[in-house]
Amino acid sequence: MKIYNTLTKSKDSLEVGDDKRINFFVCGPTVYDLSHIGHARTYVSFDAFVKYLRLKGFDVFYLQNITDIDDKIIKRASEMGEKPSDLTKKFEEEYFKDMSLLKVDSVSKHARATDYIKEIISQVERLLENGFAYTIEDGIYYDISKFKDYGKLSRRTIEQAEDGTSRIDESVKKKNKGDFCLWKFSKEGEPKWESPWGDGRPGWHIEDTAIAESFFGAQYDIHGGARDLIFPHHEAEVAQMEAVSGKSPFVKYWMHTGFLTIEKEKMSKSLNNFVTIRDFIEKHSPRILRFLALKSHYRSPVDYNEKNIDQIYQELKKIDRFVGSLENQATQDNPSKKKETEETVVKYKEKIDETLQDDFNTPVAIASLFSFISEINPKIGASDKKTINEFLENIDKVFGFIIVPPEERLVEYLESSETGNQANTESHIRELAKMRETARNNGNFGEADDIRKKIEDKGYSIEDTKEGFKIKKI
Ligand SMILES: [Zn+2]
Repeated sequence: MKIYNTLTKSKDSLEVGDDKRINFFVCGPTVYDLSHIGHARTYVSFDAFVKYLRLKGFDVFYLQNITDIDDKIIKRASEMGEKPSDLTKKFEEEYFKDMSLLKVDSVSKHARATDYIKEIISQVERLLENGFAYTIEDGIYYDISKFKDYGKLSRRTIEQAEDGTSRIDESVKKKNKGDFCLWKFSKEGEPKWESPWGDGRPGWHIEDTAIAESFFGAQYDIHGGARDLIFPHHEAEVAQMEAVSGKSPFVKYWMHTGFLTIEKEKMSKSLNNFVTIRDFIEKHSPRILRFLALKSHYRSPVDYNEKNIDQIYQELKKIDRFVGSLENQATQDNPSKKKETEETVVKYKEKIDETLQDDFNTPVAIASLFSFISEINPKIGASDKKTINEFLENIDKVFGFIIVPPEERLVEYLESSETGNQANTESHIRELAKMRETARNNGNFGEADDIRKKIEDKGYSIEDTKEGFKIKKI
């Protein structure tokens, strides 16, 4: 398996020990607000990646931190008149809710920063002892001029690093402009923990290395995150841990996900185009979001626009129609087709595997899935059905958008109402009407019209009123 490594700027072979253990860390959320769909993109990508590694027999320990203390949290809590710990508890729950809807369930351990204060203090102590940190009036800072490799991950020189200080802690008393805070002394009324240097709270970067060290030791295999975290966040992590341990590299492979844009624009509060996972799911579904995330390569940008979403609906319908039609296939064996089906399945299994081995190229793998669907002979027998289902179920362990309950299929009722029994007709019509409404809401008027015709063919009429649609028997 090859993965693109930000540290070496090349596609590197994934090499691990004989036990096939992979220690994997991804930066988790800062829980002061709902997560947006840019976060979803990153978390879905790494979830699918970890599931694929596990499918290949790797023993992946997936660790994710939860930032439940930082300046943004304190500010938001005071705006809301809440205790910071109440605010973070609430948004941590919301985060878990979003992830569960998106089927992001591969994380082995979520570690809250505030549960690792002892470990954080120990790292700061060691950095002070070996001369990489210094104390000034508002806190303890990391001295980037002491770490000769500073900038090796983001390929910045110290000077360039100092230019990009927008997210780096501001303090006029710092030795270098790019120095970042390890421990911040608390002001009146702020959350605080005891330390040998006075009450305070951890800086942002130190929690990740302290948490990772307590699970993995000084070095581990893969660190993932969104690409905007490369600098300063991940650069700071490298500087901290390698200075603490004297061992290099701190992490062997660094993987970074591309940005998610909205109609080609960067998502931002000021442009008022901020879409939370919750907003998206309400309008579409978690399945559509998961597909959107995996339809692009994890390192490429993803654009959320109507055209893209419309295409996703069409593609998912193709899948649903195929899965649905499998159910209606013969219950008899068809020996003449058996060999052909098996060969096709093996061919595509290998194809998909090959593309996923190559830097986890999900869009090409998804394209292969569609070629498979068009290539497989629809007139198959019962045992072929089993072979195909097993194949689909297996790749869906990674993708998570192929197999859905029949009632969530986008085309189920269009097909099954043809053969559905009389008792179910009314509920089929109702489902059709709901689908038509969804199509209309998404601006797919042609499709809405087709569904209306289906409804009329079944002897019903549909009327749109202010309160919604009304169905009448003709
Ligand atoms: Zn992080």
